[in-house]
Amino acid sequence: MYQIKGYTAALLVVFLFCSMVIPLAASTPTVLRPGMRGAEVESLQSALRKVGFPLKVDGIYGPETTKAVQELQRRQGLQVDGLAGPATRKALDELLNTENLTHVVARGECLSVIAQRYDVPLKTLMEANGLVSSKIIVGQKLTIPRAVPVQSQPSRIDYTVQGKDTLYAIARRFNTTVSELLRYNHLPNPDRLQIGQKITVPLRTTRLPLIWPVRGRISSGYGWRIHPVYRRKHFHGGIDIAVPSGTPVRAAASGTVSRTGWMGGGGLVVVIDHGGGITTWYLHNSRILVRKGQRVRAGDVIARSGATGVVTGPHVDFRIKVNDRTVDPMTWLP
Ligand SMILES: [Zn+2]
Repeated sequence: MYQIKGYTAALLVVFLFCSMVIPLAASTPTVLRPGMRGAEVESLQSALRKVGFPLKVDGIYGPETTKAVQELQRRQGLQVDGLAGPATRKALDELLNTENLTHVVARGECLSVIAQRYDVPLKTLMEANGLVSSKIIVGQKLTIPRAVPVQSQPSRIDYTVQGKDTLYAIARRFNTTVSELLRYNHLPNPDRLQIGQKITVPLRTTRLPLIWPVRGRISSGYGWRIHPVYRRKHFHGGIDIAVPSGTPVRAAASGTVSRTGWMGGGGLVVVIDHGGGITTWYLHNSRILVRKGQRVRAGDVIARSGATGVVTGPHVDFRIKVNDRTVDPMTWLP
């Protein structure tokens, strides 16, 4: 339906991102080993630090670095040889891209040192753990929030005009404005779009990387449709994913549960607030398994699907709202 235009740009971003973290992964397939020195060793060390090994970043592959690499290999089920080869670096890269890590507080550690060690602002660390003071105790488990890389987000896409599309409808669908569309497209007649016409849609960068709340057939898409029960034209603010009742419904991204309960035609609904004005909505559940104020991580089971509210059969109606306006979930989901 539409294809990614900012693809090259996205690749460049991926490359830049990777090269900031571990340049070795992108360019040189050399194996780093004890005794080596230099910038590559330095970036290996800083990557190791970021996943929780308290190393000195001095660019020298000494016993300390070897020990950290061995420990990483042990944890990841790799061959424990203390050499940083492709498999070890790939595992490290994956760890770096993991959304959250857990840190167990050791004797003598204080919150600001832990924050520093993982390169996380103290405030973010406290928020992620619901801490109101910096008091922590030995053995306490802390969630270390990871900045989610913005790599695969294109800056714009090519959209092909369909059916009864108007500029307003397209702008609404992609959470942008008509004037933005006009700025990016030279349209001889903006009031009359042609079916098949290509339009460049600039995307806002506020999109969150999401996972699917359930997997199933999309029984109804986002946009105008005839309501299956009321039989009149209405705007469908989400996508319907057909799944049997009782299917685990998962949080599409980390956040805080902001609303739960019966909401008219939506039946039993869970709403998760992801910050930045972004919320995700999960409708028609048979059971709700979280409570308001609870923090959830991407993939946590928050409800069991069902057929509550106004429906013709069991499904999950999944919605995304940005500042209280719905956007097409298909443009955000992987
Ligand atoms: Zn629906």
